[in-house]
Amino acid sequence: MEKRCTFGSTTGWRWSATLAEAAQENGWNIRRCGHRRYPHLCDTLAEAPRPVAIAGPDIALWRPEEDDFKPYFSPTKTWDYLRVKKTKLPWHCIVWFPQANPRQAFMVWLVFKDKLSTGITIRMREWGTQKGCVYCRKKDESRDDLFFACQYTLTVWMNVAEKLLGAVTTPDWEDTIASLQRPNRNILDTILLRLVFQTAIYVLWKERNTRRHGGVCASVDTTTKVIGRLIKNRISSVKYRGNHKLRGLLVKWFIVYTY
Ligand SMILES: [Zn+2]
Repeated sequence: MEKRCTFGSTTGWRWSATLAEAAQENGWNIRRCGHRRYPHLCDTLAEAPRPVAIAGPDIALWRPEEDDFKPYFSPTKTWDYLRVKKTKLPWHCIVWFPQANPRQAFMVWLVFKDKLSTGITIRMREWGTQKGCVYCRKKDESRDDLFFACQYTLTVWMNVAEKLLGAVTTPDWEDTIASLQRPNRNILDTILLRLVFQTAIYVLWKERNTRRHGGVCASVDTTTKVIGRLIKNRISSVKYRGNHKLRGLLVKWFIVYTY
């Protein structure tokens, strides 16, 4: 409130004033102390054309782009205009793609950034606290061990991905990402692989948390089936029909997932 009063009394403008009232024929109607207090505002106004009564009443416009003004608000365009744009990372299409489950995609993004609270990152925050892998009891639990260097997670990964990846199925994180980005794969296999990758990470991380907190350990068989069911449900929910180029996604999944 104090700021409001100060602005009004310094510039000489009422808060209900229109632009036409704030302008005179030969310039903007701002008190001398307003020029001293708000030099940037006054400089910007000096460059702007002054409003004239014959132009009609004041209207509010949204600016979705630098030199574009619209009478309506577009959240997408405004966000795109305001955000800081950076170069796309090579793995962005493995994380963000239309068929992805947003919850899983966000989690996989954290995994790429290595921001999940694994044993190693916890130890860095709380010096001396040691958290081993819940699957293989290795001393330091790490992202690369969980996905998919550990025997348990590798077996699950192979159960769900081997028919799609073939001989390049590997326990190594970097090699896995490289094989997922291979360009000469048909569109159905590409989407299925991304879905399998995200769902496997999501389910294995949930299973890791269940074990960490003393829950019942699921077998490789159970975890594999959970992943298969979630992928089937996801594909069913996107409902590709008729002549859609992805209408064969579910059929292809039943061919490659025979567990
Ligand atoms: Zn392990």
